[in-house]
Amino acid sequence: MTIFVLCLITIPLIFIWIKFRDKQTVAIQGSCTICDEVFSEAELKEADEKFFCLKDYEIYKNAEWEMVKEIQVTADDNAEATLLQDMKDDLKKQNIPSYIESKYEVEGVTIVTYSKLFKIKKPLN
Ligand SMILES: [Zn+2]
Repeated sequence: MTIFVLCLITIPLIFIWIKFRDKQTVAIQGSCTICDEVFSEAELKEADEKFFCLKDYEIYKNAEWEMVKEIQVTADDNAEATLLQDMKDDLKKQNIPSYIESKYEVEGVTIVTYSKLFKIKKPLN
């Protein structure tokens, strides 16, 4: 009798767990353009083809931005892309919001990526 009751409780729980697990894997996630943290779709907002967490969306919309560096990379030569990300990480350590904007262009047989690093002009109060 006890085993029967236990099965009655366990089986629906397994189904709930499977459903929940599947839901979690299909949930769309993305990272914030400014803080690089991963958020679920509901926690991200889009502006100018970029995604932001709710806090950084407000910063993005209300702040003035200045370009710090512009680079051009290809698949064969992408050392500068790492450099740009390092610069962004440094700004993050100093609590200075920044973001990278990229555009892709096909030139002959190569894809060229143009990336620009922007940082906040003055901190928001
Ligand atoms: Zn963010």
